Amino acid sequence: MNLTVDKAKKWILTLNDKLQEQKMYLTELDQAIGDGDHGLNMARGFEEAAKRIGNGEYEDLGKLFKDVSMALLSKVGGASGPLYGTVFMKLSASLNGKSDVGQEDFSRALQSALDGLKMRGKAQIGEKTMVDVWEPVVEYVRKTSDFQTDELVRLAKEQMEATKDMEATKGRAAYLGKRSVGHIDPGAASSYLFFETLANYLHEGDS
Ligand code: ADP
Ligand code: MG
Repeated sequence: MNLTVDKAKKWILTLNDKLQEQKMYLTELDQAIGDGDHGLNMARGFEEAAKRIGNGEYEDLGKLFKDVSMALLSKVGGASGPLYGTVFMKLSASLNGKSDVGQEDFSRALQSALDGLKMRGKAQIGEKTMVDVWEPVVEYVRKTSDFQTDELVRLAKEQMEATKDMEATKGRAAYLGKRSVGHIDPGAASSYLFFETLANYLHEGDS
């Protein structure tokens, strides 16, 4: 596997398309246990990110992800703006100066993004948030030298679905307490789309 600047750019553009397509679905999930803006937040943030990087020439993964981060931080209110903003800021810092990375560098970058996410939101696994998708997926990529695209996507999906039975103890959904049970967490759903679209590029062009 590897991640090049070109693949990273295509990934963000694809993720944006996916988020525009799933905007209503993410909004419905957030209507059930939050305030119904998650689809809108993600669509607005990534539309801006896609616009900024779509027009730019990049030679450095760090610069590319920094622009994504700045777009999200400037356009997204709500919890998810700073959280995804932090994710891309950490990816940027870890991959600064690099234009093509293999699994070791990339998993280290993902781990640093997860650490940043947990530090920022103070959530642990099992609290019905994005972390419930992020933590197992990052561990899988970090620990499995021959990880498979299908397996990564399947794991992310399974973890997203598992948030349905959890009770939220962080974020807006925590106000609902037990009434949050029975619904997929919106941020876990957008994190699934993040990893689903990413997974499809990592092994592209492997020999
Ligand atoms: P808001 O909750 O401010 O309306 P969004 O609706 O855009 O923001 O995002 C909600 C999602 O953000 C939740 O579904 C959850 O996955 C994630 N989230 C909220 N708070 C936290 C937190 N403290 N740690 C990790 N993720 C969180
Ligand atoms: Mg919301």
